[in-house]
Amino acid sequence: MGEIAEMMLEGILCEGCGELIDEDGVGHPQRCSSCDMSPRTLRSVKRVVGRERQAERHNRERRAAARLRKPFECHCGKLCRTERGLEAHKRDKHGAGGW
Ligand SMILES: [Zn+2]
Ligand SMILES: [Zn+2]
Repeated sequence: MGEIAEMMLEGILCEGCGELIDEDGVGHPQRCSSCDMSPRTLRSVKRVVGRERQAERHNRERRAAARLRKPFECHCGKLCRTERGLEAHKRDKHGAGGW
């Protein structure tokens, strides 16, 4: 048996197009995502989407928490704990006189 066929049987290469999927192999033939949207592939796609949604929500919560601690917000999105801090930031980043 050829080496490529063997790698396809191990799931290292896609059995459809021969593209490298997993260098370690999974022990059975598999296809790359562009060849086959198998239920398994779909599941992992959903998992990735779910993770991204979770990260997004996490970021929003973090932002909300930061806003509580730092209620002074610059127009650029920078949060400051004190009004003085905000003024200093504006002077630093946006030039004298704020904006
Ligand atoms: Zn393929
Ligand atoms: Zn700013």
